Amino acid sequence: NTQILLDNRPVGEATVGNFKAVTTDTPALQDGQVLVRHHFLSLDPYMRGRMNDSKSYAASQPLGEVMIGGTAGEVVESRHPKYQPGDLVVGMGGWQQYSVVNAADPGALRKVDTTHVPLSHHLGAVGMPGVTAWYGLVKIIEPKAGETMVVSAASGAVGSAFGALAKARGCRVVGIAGGPDKCRYLTDELGFDAAIDHRAHPDLKSMSQALKAACPNGIDGYFENVGGHILDAVLLRANAFARIAVCGMIAGYDGAPLPLQNPALILVNRMKVQGFIVSEHMEVWPEALKELGTLVGTGKLRPRESVAQGIESAPEAFLGLLKGKNFGKQLVKLI
Ligand code: NDP
Repeated sequence: NTQILLDNRPVGEATVGNFKAVTTDTPALQDGQVLVRHHFLSLDPYMRGRMNDSKSYAASQPLGEVMIGGTAGEVVESRHPKYQPGDLVVGMGGWQQYSVVNAADPGALRKVDTTHVPLSHHLGAVGMPGVTAWYGLVKIIEPKAGETMVVSAASGAVGSAFGALAKARGCRVVGIAGGPDKCRYLTDELGFDAAIDHRAHPDLKSMSQALKAACPNGIDGYFENVGGHILDAVLLRANAFARIAVCGMIAGYDGAPLPLQNPALILVNRMKVQGFIVSEHMEVWPEALKELGTLVGTGKLRPRESVAQGIESAPEAFLGLLKGKNFGKQLVKLI
């Protein structure tokens, strides 16, 4: 069982030198445990926060332990009556080829149905990132048909699901992404009404002008994934009583925190700004997964994936995710 451990903490930007690969035997199963062979490992931005020992929205990860992470795979051995070899499951198996799971622990494993939704999408659009988009849109932004929604990191796992969910509610949806290919994907394949390339608009003035052009009726809801000058520009273009779901601030994860230039605009626009963490809202998962499964199953949401091959590629692929090298949900395929 090859595993990737967190070996030392980053000073400034994370590097491949922060990780270490080791190979061990999987332990014999105790009663109530199952052995899962991972087919896919999910790489997610929150993992960067876990690498630090300072406060983050994800708890710090101890050194010398397997990197935490979502996994999709197959039960190969079971000493729990609910699971049989061959069952397809999603769990938090971490950056390794196999995991031994206490199957009775709440939320440890979830059986998934791959009839209409391929296994890998259960880590993306029909998994944690999809539910994240659903929660921010439905429970925080509370959109009305005809309103304008903006989302940053729009071509990614969370952003693309947000677009489909907002379109299904009759909104105008504008996505912000890095580069012309990602922007074309938003409008041509995901059905966004407009796309803005943040690389072509690298400062507040230019981003604010681009938002003005793409959002002629102003902005009613913003799903924040990035922070920095994009958030500043959205505040300038927000309508009275606009809502912001603060989901992530990835522009600041791998370096210095990002200052907000003009927080008084929250008052001027009488805005609601609310952060959230999807794992604290397990009560919405069944409803959200049902809607997301239908959107994917009916082809209304066609999520893209960036798939790295083999467990050893995980560190490099993860660092790429922090720099926008991924295009869609970043996965590692293990078999
Ligand atoms: P993505 O698939 O969207 O990948 C991350 C993307 O972020 C990159 O592809 C890149 O896209 C963009 N990005 C990276 N750096 C910058 C930058 N400096 N400026 C602008 N864009 C940047 O990841 P996810 O969909 O998995 O996650 C999206 C966000 O959701 C993250 O902020 C994450 O932390 C957050 N999240 C929060 C959760 C919660 O419970 N609060 C749960 C899950 C995710 P591009 O090339 O377009 O710039």
